Amino acid sequence: MTLPARISLPVALRPARGALTTPRVCATPSRTLTFPAAQPHYARRFHVSTNTKQRLRLTGNQSQLTGPYNTSPTLKATENDTALRKEVEDLKELVAKLQEEREQLVATKGGIPNTIEPTLGERECISQDAPLFSDAKLDAQWVKLIPAPEAEDTKLMILSRLWLRDSCNCPKCLDPDSGQKTFSTTDLPEVPATSRDNVRVRNDGSLEIIWENDPISNGESHRTVLSAGELNLLYHNNNPRIQLQPPIPRTLWDNASYTDLVRSGACHIDYNDWRNNDEAFWTAFEQFTKTGLIFLKNVPQEEHSVINIANRIGPLQYTFYGWTWDVKSKPRAENVAYTNVFLGLHQDLMYHDPIPRLQLLHCLANSCEGGESLFSDGVHAALQLLNTDPEAYDILTKTDVHFGYDKGGHHYYATRKTIEADPNTGAPFITHWAPPFQTSFPAKDKNNRLRRWRDAAEKFQRLLEKEENMYEVKMKPGECVIFDNSRVLHGRREFETSTGSRWLKGTYITPQVYRAKETELVRRLNKGKPWPVDSTEERGRIWQLERDMVKQRKK
Ligand SMILES: [Zn+2]
Repeated sequence: MTLPARISLPVALRPARGALTTPRVCATPSRTLTFPAAQPHYARRFHVSTNTKQRLRLTGNQSQLTGPYNTSPTLKATENDTALRKEVEDLKELVAKLQEEREQLVATKGGIPNTIEPTLGERECISQDAPLFSDAKLDAQWVKLIPAPEAEDTKLMILSRLWLRDSCNCPKCLDPDSGQKTFSTTDLPEVPATSRDNVRVRNDGSLEIIWENDPISNGESHRTVLSAGELNLLYHNNNPRIQLQPPIPRTLWDNASYTDLVRSGACHIDYNDWRNNDEAFWTAFEQFTKTGLIFLKNVPQEEHSVINIANRIGPLQYTFYGWTWDVKSKPRAENVAYTNVFLGLHQDLMYHDPIPRLQLLHCLANSCEGGESLFSDGVHAALQLLNTDPEAYDILTKTDVHFGYDKGGHHYYATRKTIEADPNTGAPFITHWAPPFQTSFPAKDKNNRLRRWRDAAEKFQRLLEKEENMYEVKMKPGECVIFDNSRVLHGRREFETSTGSRWLKGTYITPQVYRAKETELVRRLNKGKPWPVDSTEERGRIWQLERDMVKQRKK
């Protein structure tokens, strides 16, 4: 069995830039370390080598040992190589930590990690002030930034003159009040004019360029300065000025773990705190970004309350159901939600674009017998499926499922995959499950796609509906639930209309509005800390490795 030859350290364990242990594949491993593994069938080998600068490299390499494996790290180094030995000891410690984290990630609940890594890029923190560049050279239409000698590992960074002029953030180019650009990119010449003497890196590491014959400045000269911090961020992140923050890592849950969270008080917040207490709101919202399910209590029994709750996150999403809508049972209902029968686990508006990201349901009455709400973590079930039946999982990530709504002049259709894996990481991220709104599969189906999807979907559905996976609660008047409709499925037990009344008022929030609020949260959490840098690829490799390990274990 061969596992991927490359492994990278989780960001949290990665040492500062330029430190000795930057993980890197090296051409000629010259030392071998073997570490014990918590799982009996796996051991990890790390090759340690020195390059010409005598700097250590740690190379990931995993292999299965067929016989008994070493229970303590060993080092095959020459006797007099004490410096290397010391450095290897440090490495050993680092790798032990890495191993611990990875075991935690994989080991719980039969191989299902508790947390899914964010997908739009992880935060790797870099120093804001240590300058990476010491010199700048002008070259045709480019400016080349030369790495400072102390910034090891840093490569030349080349930026176009046009980009630099277009990205000037001086008060003349960016309106200080509105933050808006005062000129159009088309106002600039193809190659803005400057000269060798007018491009330099200053002592503080910032880049200064004086533009000549600047059209935005009526032909006068114009000064652009990018601070060392901005340059660092540019170096690590190709477009730092689009600063949508990566999502908070998700906590996957089942009945037991969510019930524990409920008992700890983390899943409930008072309506007044949500609206008026900043600290309480952000704590609750952060919790929500992890589990995708939260409850508000003591909500005023008014039809407007659900709007007040949603507005704390952002504007409502308007759909053909209106700004808000009522879930009450009624005869000859146009939607199965408006009946009193059992409503299987599903997600809302799979036929709509964009699919609402958040759904809010405020309970105004629930005196009927029955009518308990059911919730299930679709991503958790998807991971369970991956762990138990990777082939079924693959079918659900690849087969098109068609959804539609065609009634009362509303003609809505959309095609989705049952499980959407993140393109960068391969991790399940979004589920699309709404049997009542499925339309037909293509009739001409010589590959028997429908049959294969049906078999895989049945397995997925069983996992979604497993008692151990569902959280069930009977909502009381004055409670409001918010859930992430991209991932948390909801349903309802049958209820008896003759025994009372049941009335929920609901509304939706778009994916963009939600992500904007999540970005605000991440920026708050990062306040005063070093800048985040995109390292999606790195994350992707870690996740891919986990996936492969799971697959290998199955074989
Ligand atoms: Zn400017």
